Amino acid sequence: MIAFDLKCDDGHEFEAWFRDGSAYDSLRKVRRVTCPECGSAKVEKALMTPNVTAGRDRDQTQRQVAQQARQHLQNLRTFIEKNADNVGDGFAEEARKIHYGEADARNIYGSATTEESTELTEEGIEVQKVPWLPRDS
Ligand SMILES: [Zn+2]
Repeated sequence: MIAFDLKCDDGHEFEAWFRDGSAYDSLRKVRRVTCPECGSAKVEKALMTPNVTAGRDRDQTQRQVAQQARQHLQNLRTFIEKNADNVGDGFAEEARKIHYGEADARNIYGSATTEESTELTEEGIEVQKVPWLPRDS
């Protein structure tokens, strides 16, 4: 048995099972392959997708993935806030001080412009960019 994702000329997508590929071809030729929704015999193979779940399930999965990623970033933010000092806009300056031993070595976080972070990297100062999500209300 073989399953094909099919699509009628009205755009309805459905799945149908056949004994083999040639059974599909011969049944289609005599218009015995019809859309379960509108009965049209004008059907074509739809593009195969690696995800076999139907539309609604697929949206659900995507929402779950987005939700999990969001949760992960929230946790990351919480972790950083607990384990590093917030130096705000002074991040680049403070990172430099730490690097050159002018300030206590510690974990810091804050904001830096793209230019600032490029300069820090060029000076051999390790910085990590993280997406900073607003708190859930
Ligand atoms: Zn149809």
